Formats: sequence, structure tokens, C-alpha cells
Amino acid sequence: MALTPISGLPKLEQPVGVLKGVGPAKETALAKLGVERIGDLVRLWPRAYQNRGDTKTLLEVADRLRNGETGPFSTVLTMSSEPQTRYIRRGMVITKARAFDETGSAEITWFNQPYIAQRVHTGETYRFFGRFAWEYGRVQINSPITEAWREDLPLPAIVPVYPVTQGLKQRFLADLIAEAIRYAGDELTESLPTDALEEMRLPSYGFTVRAIHRPASVSEMETARQRLVFEELYFMFLSMALSGAASRQASGPLKLTDTDLSDFNAALPFTLTGAQARSIREIVADMAGERLMNRILTGDVGSGKTVVAAAAMYAAVKNGFRAVLMAPTEILAAQHAEDLTKLFGALGVKCALLTGSTKKKDRTAILDGLRDEGDIRIVVGTHALLTVDVLIDRLGLAVIDEQHRFGVHQRAALFEKAKNVHSLVMSATPIPRTLTLAAYGMIDVSKIDELPAGRQKIDTFIVNESYRERLNNFIRRQAAEGHQVYVVCPAVEESEKASDTDADEMADLPLVDAMPEENAPMKSAVQHADELAAALPELNVGFVHGKLKSSEKDRVMTEFAAGHLDVLVSTTVIEVGVNVPNATLMIVENAERFGLSQLHQLRGRVGRGTAKSYFILVSDTKNPDAQDRLRAVKSTTDGFEIAEYDLELRGPGDFFNETGAIRQHGQMNFRLAAACRDPHVIERASYYARRTAEEDPGMTSPANAPAARRLASFTWRTEKTQN
Ligand code: ADP
Ligand code: MG
Repeated sequence: MALTPISGLPKLEQPVGVLKGVGPAKETALAKLGVERIGDLVRLWPRAYQNRGDTKTLLEVADRLRNGETGPFSTVLTMSSEPQTRYIRRGMVITKARAFDETGSAEITWFNQPYIAQRVHTGETYRFFGRFAWEYGRVQINSPITEAWREDLPLPAIVPVYPVTQGLKQRFLADLIAEAIRYAGDELTESLPTDALEEMRLPSYGFTVRAIHRPASVSEMETARQRLVFEELYFMFLSMALSGAASRQASGPLKLTDTDLSDFNAALPFTLTGAQARSIREIVADMAGERLMNRILTGDVGSGKTVVAAAAMYAAVKNGFRAVLMAPTEILAAQHAEDLTKLFGALGVKCALLTGSTKKKDRTAILDGLRDEGDIRIVVGTHALLTVDVLIDRLGLAVIDEQHRFGVHQRAALFEKAKNVHSLVMSATPIPRTLTLAAYGMIDVSKIDELPAGRQKIDTFIVNESYRERLNNFIRRQAAEGHQVYVVCPAVEESEKASDTDADEMADLPLVDAMPEENAPMKSAVQHADELAAALPELNVGFVHGKLKSSEKDRVMTEFAAGHLDVLVSTTVIEVGVNVPNATLMIVENAERFGLSQLHQLRGRVGRGTAKSYFILVSDTKNPDAQDRLRAVKSTTDGFEIAEYDLELRGPGDFFNETGAIRQHGQMNFRLAAACRDPHVIERASYYARRTAEEDPGMTSPANAPAARRLASFTWRTEKTQN
């Protein structure tokens, strides 16, 4: 039973439930993929493809196998026997059959697919795709994807592989996407400039969407992908250009005249590092200069970016302006507010915290305090700051922390709100697009390449399950020394198994080099918290995850920060910015499930005090890509290097999903663009975007309506950037 479409809403905006076959259960499963609307479905790009159309005779396959090739291969064979099913032992069923073509015969084995016996029959012809082997002097085919072959009804040659979870099958997704494209096909309007498409020889949006999901050939798929890369780059540059942040206006209202920060420095409980002092000088020079500042402040986690931002904010305040600091989570915003209130209290500057959970009465008072006559000079908050009724008079500086956690469009929304203000973004892991922007001179970079004195290098180890007992002992030892421990798990509940290679997809082997699915059992955070508490009865173990109410989350975090908990088990809610200098050990379970930059961020939670700290990655993965990723984390602590690795390891072949498992909602935007390393393509995208922004800064012309819609459609993900 399909939902009735919501009237007045474009088809692309309709909930997926309007399609046949999407009930509440499927809707929930799709939502876990970040798919809620028809448009999400249309833009759920495959992460890889299988080239099932490149069929070979058994003789050819045999030759290749004997030459050491492993496939995957595709053959068209006719069955010479009925499949025979045997029950080997509990939970293990084997179905075997023989098949042949004009060059030879092969043995086919399906594991745990007893129903295959009803579907495959002697004398019928099928296409088999999967891993083949050369054994006992003949071709053996194991659990192939088996499709009925009919001369009159050709099977698709290139088959997309979607990032599947939660019991959604590849076939189901492919069919559903086809259905979505049929449903909303007339809304797949072009959003790129015609001359850009011509110059770059790129296909239309409608063609691209159809071809990316059901390419007729490898070259068609490639063409479609090139278009998507260009499109993402174009929108990335366009949002930058429109935000005003990148447009380098000649001047804004705030141009520092008083650049003396000696009272600020005197109020600090420590001496700035050389790199911090240099960054502050660069920022002050920007803000005193002829153009608006558009700068990114990078520095490894724990290098002390916050105080640099505080100096910049103080400079703005000292010159009669206000400053805003936006953080991606409530926990982080609260922590910043607390630190800044302490620091600025001594300097007589009033700060406020504004988040989604600020009480209405407080909120009203804060909003008043931010008007012309108000006394609040600095406001810290989450994306709640982007709400329309938040009006900040005499705003001179906008700072965004952990910028990689925000989508471009959220940042654009902030800059929209703060037009003509200096902007400073902070990140430990500059996302590759920032590298790109830096390369094109659209943004300046300050780098803190020195840790505060007294810090020790964090030691990173990669261990497997066999170290479990030793790990527990290590936790005990850290606790006995009065230190605290983070344990991070990838998922919340048992049911959140990330990979669900159902029988139909056992030969799910990509053509494009995507990462194979991980099949290792995954530790659920809930289960792990229980196990740890049982193994370490003498310690206080707390548990925090994204599904808790934020008040509950805050309570546990506060307890941990206050030292009442020895161990904090969590999902990645602690990823960002949390500062507990007494924590000296972090253990990451199923580390293969995390992205590179995520791991880098996590590591930054320890080593914030003077005691030696450790970062231990627990993984049994056999996946070479995942192993590379873990080794990369071990080999460097430099955020720029990590970002480069990320790009390298992910490569252009891997669509969107960095681990094949944990999907970070709202972060899927611009994945393709991030993989683009062709300077010409980047340059052209930037040229056309800037031209559009110059010609139509309000994006109001009818020709730009589709582009304006595309830009707007990203912001709804706001709530989802947190997990
Ligand atoms: P990040 O760069 O990861 O945002 P923070 O700004 O949170 O790092 O700083 C990490 C910790 O280091 C904080 O507790 C901060 O007070 C401290 N810190 C920052 N600069 C210095 C310094 N120059 N000397 C000593 N401690 C510092
Ligand atoms: Mg920080």
C-alpha cells in the first residue's frame, strides 16, 4: 500500500513511501541509508558496478584461471543436471549442479541457497557471475549470481552495486530506483549551464541519472560519472561563491584598527606556542586588511585551535563588533561556551550559548543581548544559530569549528546570515575539498604545526581480537594510575549489522575497485558495554550513544569529564572536540568500520594532558583496503597527510561510502568531487560557478531555478550531521 503523494510537493520531494512496495519497514531501512525522499533515491549513487555482460566461454575462463586470474567472470551455460541439495550440518546447505557450453562443462555450487533447486532446471540456460576456480581439472563456480538467460530479453550488462544495509537487497534497490526515476523523470531538470556541458562534453542530468543507475556500457557509466563529478564541483564552488565567503569582497564593516592583544595573552593560563602566535598574527592581519578574511585554521587535534579563534573573536570585540562560533554538536558547543566564558570573564566580555535545547526564556534573553543595545559580545552555538530569528547586530567574525562535520550548505547558511563578515573555519582534518580550494586560492590557510609544550606523542597500535585479555589489563592499569579510558564502537544495537550479504549477493564483486563488504562480526556498543562492565567489575563503566536523549548524553559526558567514570563506552558521539585531558587511552573496536579522518579525530580525544597516551585500533579485518587505512592512521598524526591518504585510498573508484559500512548522513555530498584530481575539471567548474554567482548573485533568474533548488535541497540534512 503506497502513501498518497503530498499535494503541492514536487515529486522529488515526496517521501519514498509513495512508491509501490515501500511500506513502513522498507521506509525505515531506506532512512538508514539516508534515503527519505524520491530525490534521495534518485541520487543514491552506486558504490561500484559488476560487469556481468563480459561473458566468456568456459574454455577462456579455464585458460585465465590457469594463468592465475581470479575473476570475477561471467559465463552463459546450460544446465546438464538438476541441482542436488544436501544438508551438510546445521545451518549449512549445499546445492550442486553441472552446466556446459560449447567449449566445456563446469560444476556449480551454491551455499545456503536451497531455493535455487526450484529455480534452476536441466536444459535451461543461465548467466553465472562470480568467482570461479580451477579445481580437479575443471571449472568450479561457487555461489554465482544466477540469472535466467533469454535471447529475446537481454540481461543488463553492467549492474550497479548499492551501499546496502538493513535487509535491502541490491535487486530491490535497483528496481526501486528505476521506479523512482520513472515516477519523477520529468523533474530531472538540468541545473548546469549549457555551455559548461558543451565545453566539457558532459551529458544532461536526465541521461546521467539513468545511465549511472543502469549504464548500457562501461563508457556510458564513465561519462555519467564525469558529469556527476563536475556537477558536485560546480555546486561546491557555487555555494562558496554565493556565500560571499569566497568572493573576497573589498571590505566588510569590520576592519581592525586596534590590534593589540596583550591583555588577551595576559589572561591566558598558558603561553601560546609559536605556531599559535603566528596563526593569530595572520588572522589579525587579515581582519585589519582591505579584504574580508576567508581563512581555514588547521592543526592536529589538541594543537590548540580554540584559543586562536578566541583571540580572533577578542580582536573583533575589542573593535566594537560581535563574534559567533558555531560547533557541530551540542556537547562541543557547550564545552566551548564554558571555556570561553572562563577566559572572557576575566576580560570583561560577555559570552552566551545558544543551541536547540536552550530554554525559551533564556533564548529570548540571548537574542535581546545580541541586538544593538545588548551586552552579549560572543555567542557560541550549534546550527540553532542559523534559525531566522537569530539576528546578530554588528557581527564582525564568524568562526566554524570542526568544519568537516558541516555540509557546505550549512556553512553557506551561516555565511548567508553573516554576510560581509570575516570567516574563520577550524579543522583538524581538512576535507580534501579544502585542499582543492586552497590550491585555487579561494581560501587562506593557517597551520598550527606544533603541539603545546609538555605533550607527548600518542602511540598508536593495531591489534586483533587475540589481544582482548591484554587490552582489559591495560584498561585496568590506566585506571589504577588514575587515568580514564574511551572505548569506541561503531554501532549501537545488535541489529545494526552493517553488511547483509544475502544469498543472492554472495558473489557481489565490484568491477570498479570498491571495497569488499566486511563480513566480520561487528561488536555492538550495547553488547560491548555490558561485556566490559562484566570484565572490569571494579571499574565504573559509562555508556553514551547517539540514540540517547541529549540531556542523558550530557549527563554521562559530564560524569566522565568530572572523573567519576573510569571507562566511557561510546559510539562516535565523542568524536568531535571533547576535552578530557585525564583520558589517556582510547580503544576503537571494529576499527575497520571507521573512516580515516574519523579515526584521526577520535585519536585527538587522548593525549590532551601531559601523561603518555595510547590509541589502540582493534580489528580482525582481512580487507587490504581497511588494513591500509589503519596503517595510515598509525603512520602519521598530521591532518593534512591524513586527508591526502584519505583521497588516495578512497580513490575515484569508490563511490561515497568510505567504509562500506558506517554511513555518515549528510556527509555524502561532494564525495565524488573530493575524488577529482583533474585540475582542468576543477578549474572549469570553478570558472562556471563563479560566473553564475556573478551574473545572478541571488539565484533568481528562471534559468537558474533548478540550480537554486539543488542548492536548497541540501540544507534539510542539517539534523543528520550528528550521530
Ligand atoms: P584543538 O586544536 O583540537 O581544538 P583545543 O583548542 O581543544 O585543541 O586545545 C586542546 C587543549 O590544549 C585545551 O585543553 C587547551 O586549553 C590546551 N592548550 C591550548 N593551547 C595551549 C598552550 N599553548 N599551552 C598549553 N595548553 C594549551
Ligand atoms: Mg577543537
